[in-house]
Amino acid sequence: MDKISIIVPCYNEEKALPEFYRRTSEAAADIDGAECEFIFVDDGSSDHTPDILESLSRADVRCRSISFSRNFGKEAAMYAGLQNASGDYCVFMDADLQHPPELLKEMYHVVKTEGYDCCAGLREDRTGENRLRSLLSRIFYKVVTHMCKLDMGDGKGDFRMMNRTMADSVLELKEYNRYMKGIFSFVGFDTKWIPFHNVGRTAGETKWSFGSLFRYAVDGILSFSPAPASMAGATGALLILAALLTGIGTVVFSGALSGIPLLICLILILNGIQMFFLSILGQYISKDYMESKRRPIYIVKKKRGFPEVAER
Ligand code: UDP
Ligand code: MG
Repeated sequence: MDKISIIVPCYNEEKALPEFYRRTSEAAADIDGAECEFIFVDDGSSDHTPDILESLSRADVRCRSISFSRNFGKEAAMYAGLQNASGDYCVFMDADLQHPPELLKEMYHVVKTEGYDCCAGLREDRTGENRLRSLLSRIFYKVVTHMCKLDMGDGKGDFRMMNRTMADSVLELKEYNRYMKGIFSFVGFDTKWIPFHNVGRTAGETKWSFGSLFRYAVDGILSFSPAPASMAGATGALLILAALLTGIGTVVFSGALSGIPLLICLILILNGIQMFFLSILGQYISKDYMESKRRPIYIVKKKRGFPEVAER
């Protein structure tokens, strides 16, 4: 009998969790030839999420959970879940039922019998989502796919079931600034995409503000692409060329280099552009600085339901 580990990052999901557990258990019971375990990762929730996870692990031996000491972010929660998953197959699911549990059966069938290493959900539409957010996301995925030369298209999210080999490869990437969509694409392996329609959250609120999404987007690009730094180099070279041409042109047409106001303007603009790109370089340096610290990606406060760990 195979084992599927269902990894669920949870941040203040008290409203969504009971329904998530009910529907996902039902879907799991429908899978022939495999049993499921749940690895809930409470990402420093301040509501009753830890209490719900506590009672789930008391009521159902398949329910394991980990609570972080504070909010470390969804990426850290997914990493922790994967590290603690013992299944032959691992699947990431959001707690808000935006990833339909009914697809688990088909995903398992694909990875078990069709020779794929991974079966992933492809969200076909963004029905029910804020229009501006949808538009910005689409633009972001176009830019990122182009810049990073990795397949991170719109709708290709974290909802995916993978075999042990792929899961272990994902765990091999131990970087601090994690961007799972990029990591999945980076490790490669054969992936089959199965489409599904977007649905609204079952309960509760999205945990992402525009600010946090923007930071996440910038992190994604900087984690996987040196392109912004090369752009700084190319722009620098162009600016030098433009300055030379302006100098030569002025000398040729007016006989002397003049026009002080114009020069002041140019200097200011050029300095502005330089500062902008220096900040991009600064971000790379700061990322490297963070990596060199080798900080833990998360800190576990408590583990529940793991047989090898005695309850304290
Ligand atoms: N999440 C998390 N830590 C965070 C933010 C979100 O573990 O800091 C979890 C959240 O509980 C949910 C999943 O990540 O299970 C997706 O979050 P959300 O539904 O808010 O994102 P959206 O669907 O709006 O992109
Ligand atoms: Mg959601």
